[in-house]
Amino acid sequence: MQQYPFPVSYNEILERIDQIDPVQYATSRNFLDGAVTYLSPYISRGVISCHQIFQSLLSKGYTIDSCKKLIQELAWREYFQRVWQYLEDDIFKDIRKSYQQIQHTRMPVSLLEASTGIIAIDKGIKALYETGYMHNHIRMYTASITTNIGKAHWQIPSQWMYYHLLDGDIACNTCSWQWVAGTFSTKKYFCNQENINKYTGTSQQHTYLDKSYDELPTMAVPPTLSKATSLQLKTSLPSTTMPELDSSLPLLLYNSYNLDPLWHEDIEANRILLLEPSHFNQYPVSEKVIDFIMGLSKNIPGLQVMTGEVKNIPGMQKFPAIYSKEHPLFKHYPGKKDERTWLFPEVNSFPDSFFSYWKKCEKTLLTDNKHYPVYNMNNKQVS
Ligand SMILES: Cc1cc2nc3c(=O)[nH]c(=O)nc-3n(C[C@H](O)[C@H](O)[C@H](O)COP(=O)(O)OP(=O)(O)OC[C@H]3O[C@@H](n4cnc5c(N)ncnc54)[C@H](O)[C@@H]3O)c2cc1C
Repeated sequence: MQQYPFPVSYNEILERIDQIDPVQYATSRNFLDGAVTYLSPYISRGVISCHQIFQSLLSKGYTIDSCKKLIQELAWREYFQRVWQYLEDDIFKDIRKSYQQIQHTRMPVSLLEASTGIIAIDKGIKALYETGYMHNHIRMYTASITTNIGKAHWQIPSQWMYYHLLDGDIACNTCSWQWVAGTFSTKKYFCNQENINKYTGTSQQHTYLDKSYDELPTMAVPPTLSKATSLQLKTSLPSTTMPELDSSLPLLLYNSYNLDPLWHEDIEANRILLLEPSHFNQYPVSEKVIDFIMGLSKNIPGLQVMTGEVKNIPGMQKFPAIYSKEHPLFKHYPGKKDERTWLFPEVNSFPDSFFSYWKKCEKTLLTDNKHYPVYNMNNKQVS
């Protein structure tokens, strides 16, 4: 069932969590019409956490075993966040090995124009432009034909995808592109037409991907994928007035990665959604993404939006305390950085590979299950 476009009200988001069917998810997630959650835009924007999803599943009586596949996918997300925390800006370089067969470092025109010739991918790109969402398998197919068939370096195309995704997350996006390209995995990811047809419900034949897996790595770049251009991305930020602030109260800093309505909800404070031009110059996003962020911000009572740099917030020295959430992109904020809510807070050393990371996560699931308090949808502890 397709559930986009994406509502922005907190109650509708909680309803979406409530509708998760982890058992169906496990068997169908690879299919375009599978029972995926469509929750990534809310997780990436920090409205909800993986931990909250896990708690909701437990409160509905699902066993850990029946949710294992979904928990593993949530763990992929946390793994990429840990990789980023550890590597910092080095995630923007080829992480494990440099990419040996690149023909260019520009943007393939066929992606921009949704004209790769592979029906499922072209439809997926058009849907990305319309909705800001792309199914995981289409993301993998798109990245694979770009890097491993079209022989473009992953970096510029990953910026293009990030720009359009409501769930754009630097860690997941950059690491996933590198995983597909083989610079952060043991081998490049290839998909052939048969695989695409199987998971997307198309029946296309005689394409440049209609080949065996032995043939794909050595084939010449198809003409459809060879034209490249430079990529120009710009963010349109809303114009705002200076926020009205009470210097006797603490200041809470929100941003496009932290729109959590429950964060310090019980204290009286100045709350600013800070849209820093310097951030969006470096990591541009589309107008649709900005609209989505603005929509989500309405869930936080008293939140004032400021387009400007943190250093220009008036009277910064006067607040009794300044709080933000820890995040690699916002280290430059002053004040105290609260820990993000992790699903696996204990598994925090740099993991060699996802599977060594997952092994540690699984252990905590098995041994620490009893210490997990169970929360209801409003994040109130129920047992
Ligand atoms: C090239 C490429 C780029 C990607 N870019 C992003 C991105 O910018 N932001 C982003 O959040 N995800 C990204 N992903 C991962 C994944 O595609 C999305 O998280 C997922 O498709 C979101 O849809 P969903 O919420 O319906 O996922 P579901 O399948 O319902 O999964 C539930 C949650 O688990 C997490 N998750 C699931 N699959 C993955 C995965 N493969 N890697 C990491 N986390 C996962 C997500 O938080 C997701 O919301 C990318 C994957 C690829 C291959």
